[in-house]
Order: sequence, then structure tokens, then C-alpha cells
Amino acid sequence: MMTKACPMGHGPMELKQQTKTITFRDVELTVAVTAHVCPECGMTASDVKTAGQVQRQIADAYRAKMNLLTGDEIRSLRQAKNLTQDTLAEEMGVGVASIKRWELGNIQSSSMDNLLRSYLEKKYVCSINTYTGNRALSLPRIKRVARQFETILGKRLLKKGDKFLFLAKYLWYADMTSFRELGKSMTGSTYAALPYGPQLNNYKDLVGEIKQSDELASEPLSDGEIRIIDSIAKKFPNEKQIYDAAHCEEIWKEAPTGSLLSYSLAYRLTEIQSSV
Ligand SMILES: [Zn+2]
Repeated sequence: MMTKACPMGHGPMELKQQTKTITFRDVELTVAVTAHVCPECGMTASDVKTAGQVQRQIADAYRAKMNLLTGDEIRSLRQAKNLTQDTLAEEMGVGVASIKRWELGNIQSSSMDNLLRSYLEKKYVCSINTYTGNRALSLPRIKRVARQFETILGKRLLKKGDKFLFLAKYLWYADMTSFRELGKSMTGSTYAALPYGPQLNNYKDLVGEIKQSDELASEPLSDGEIRIIDSIAKKFPNEKQIYDAAHCEEIWKEAPTGSLLSYSLAYRLTEIQSSV
């Protein structure tokens, strides 16, 4: 900022922070302003730049008081969403000049403020958790579901040193079918598309813990869940059958290796039909 000279001939003026209370649109506001002050006679002066700053401060103080987004808030919310001024204007159906002016200090109307917030403060929470199927991951429940399959199949699936090559397919079908028919997975597991079929994501870290967990500590299976496990076990009485069936599923074939398999694709399963 350029130093000004006192018009009364006292030499250079000093820049000073001052607090001013002003009335703007019938609202009393306190703003901090920088002014040129003559140390000799106390004369104050502002230049074009400080006048612009003052206007902006008044606009922001007014907006803060009226619960409107301030210029800085609009800019930082917009940047947090990775939107340019142009894309935000396009999405909102307003001119880009409006966005620029609001960020610089023009006061938006309350209806425009609501519109801005609807684009910048989107707090909508998705109604499904795509990768856990609307249930928090429970290792004891994985064990419980595995035990239920073992009971019906009459054989051990949770074997010593087993890497869940086959068990993972039973679990995947059980979780996906449960999500499709009951709106919720059975175990909260997240599955990845691996070369040998759908597998528990991070299974290497989980296998040991699942085996050691106490299935009785988990929520008992509902009638609907038992019915689903029953129909899967009857359709695939041996492990090789379910392993091959999983490899027929388009949703696994289409998925890039290592990617997560979304529960939202459950309705596209082809090898397990509705059990209801
Ligand atoms: Zn002076």
C-alpha cells in the first residue's frame, strides 16, 4: 500500500488499524479497517484500495451476521469440491460473473444463498454402503455363517491353513443374496475381484482372526438368512461347483483385478436365483 502524504503538509501518514461501527442495510456492524492517519494532526484518509477492502469487510460482516455465506466461505467450499467458478456457475444455472462477484464481496440474496449451499454443502448420505452391504464388518459373524454352511453341507470349510479359496465363494453368495433379498449383507464383508474369483478384501489379514473369533458373540442368524444359506448350500453341495459358479458371474468377469465388488451389483447375479 502506498504511503500518503498529509494534505495539510505534515509529511507521510501512517497506516493504522481501526475498528469502526457502522450501520449497513439497517444492521449494525463492527469492521476492522486500515486507514492512513497523520501522526501530526490526526487527519484520516483512505485510498481506492482501502476503500475496496472496507466495502468487502462490510459485505462479509453483513453476510456473517445474516447467516449468508461470506466470500471466503463460498471460495473455500467451492475449492474443497474441486469446482471452478465456471463449473459451479454452470451447475447452478447462473452467470459466472455472479460467482465472481459473490466471492469478491457482492451480497447474494437469501434465495441465491440457499442455492449456493445446496451445491456447496451437499450433506446427502447415500442410503446404501456399497462395499459392506449396509452392515458393519463382523468377523465372528463370518465364522457363524461359515459354521452354518458346514452344518448343512456336513463338512469342514474352515480348515487349518485354509486361505478361504472356497469358503469365500459361499460367503460372497450369502452376503450378496442377503443384500439383494433382505437389504443387508450377513457379515459386512467387502469383496475384491481376484483372479481366482471373489475373495474377502484383505483376506490375508482376516483369515487368522476369523478362525480365532467367537461366533457365539455375533448376532444370531435370522430365518431369512438361514433360508438363503440353505438354498446356496443345496445348489452347490460341493466346493468346486460354487467355485466354478462364481467364475460364471458377469459382475466378477467385468471387474478389474483387485477392484472391490459393489453390493449394488447383487441383482445381476445369475447363478443364484431368488430363494423367496
Ligand atoms: Zn497532518
